[in-house]
Amino acid sequence: MSRMIRKAAVIGSGVMGSGIAAHLANSGIACLLLDIVPDRLTPEEAAKGLSLTDPEVRNRLASSAVAGLKKHRPAPLYDSSFADLITPGNIEDHLEQLKKVDWIIEVVVENLAVKKNLLEKVERNWREGTIVSSNTSGISINEMVQGRSDGFKRHFLGTHFFNPPRYLKLLEIIPGKETDPAIVDFMSSFCNKTLGKGVVRAKDTPNFIGNRIGTYGLLVTLQEMSNAGYSVDEIDAITGPAMGRPKSATLRTLDVVGIDTFIHVAQNVHDNVSGETEKTVFTVPEYLREMVALGWNGAKSGQGFYKSV
Ligand code: NAD
Repeated sequence: MSRMIRKAAVIGSGVMGSGIAAHLANSGIACLLLDIVPDRLTPEEAAKGLSLTDPEVRNRLASSAVAGLKKHRPAPLYDSSFADLITPGNIEDHLEQLKKVDWIIEVVVENLAVKKNLLEKVERNWREGTIVSSNTSGISINEMVQGRSDGFKRHFLGTHFFNPPRYLKLLEIIPGKETDPAIVDFMSSFCNKTLGKGVVRAKDTPNFIGNRIGTYGLLVTLQEMSNAGYSVDEIDAITGPAMGRPKSATLRTLDVVGIDTFIHVAQNVHDNVSGETEKTVFTVPEYLREMVALGWNGAKSGQGFYKSV
């Protein structure tokens, strides 16, 4: 069967979902960018008399992600007019639209229960033949589709973009036990030729390849920072250009990734390895959890290791 991806739906419009939607638009692919409706209005919105039953208000969250794409530096879009290829909306009111796309990409928070729940909803609105993938950083692809139909499982795989999606070339393709090999081949070729990615096939092991190695390095650096008493600036100076690495060194990278997301990603390996040494290395330092409790989630919240302007 000859396949073509002309239209996609990206579910989750946070750091990665908005960046992936932008990169699809850069590649000429129209996409829906869907997110949840906020639980409540901010006091300012409530004071203006807005209502959460108003479709326009319900679409606010996803729309603000698209507006953010035009301001973000480095720019996620080759040209800001490409944002016209992205249609923002809220997931609940647009589930039916999933039947009209060729590829659905799940890019919601790194939590197995949330992802499983979403995929159940997606399957109820899935058209046979549509490819479905997850951008998970390392949660098991096979576990995510437990309970889904055989047909859905044949069309499901991991497509793990790296952050920021426009600039980082690596993309891991993670087939599940039941993914149709023809779909794995098609997506590997599509992501390489149309999206310009360097594709690596990874096995469904905790955090796959890139994040198993990357998280290890970050956690060891964080442990050394507190054990040896280095400052934030010292760590980034030592582990950045001084070591021949790009400017965005360790702690700036963590701010870009999102401290909350990084904790989920590290915890995932910790929970899925049995060796004592690996368990120790993959233990999340308590101060990262304290930062998140303060709302210091990194660049996306305006404060992480650094203040963002
Ligand atoms: P984020 O916190 O920036 O965004 C997550 C978004 O998901 C939020 O906007 C949230 O409202 C939305 N969401 C939550 N539940 C939802 C639901 N049921 N339906 C629709 N939307 C929902 O997180 P992120 O950094 O964009 O990460 C998203 C995924 O990408 C995670 O699986 C993460 O591990 C992976 N990832 C992240 C990075 C990174 O550097 N941040 C890199 C590669 C992969």
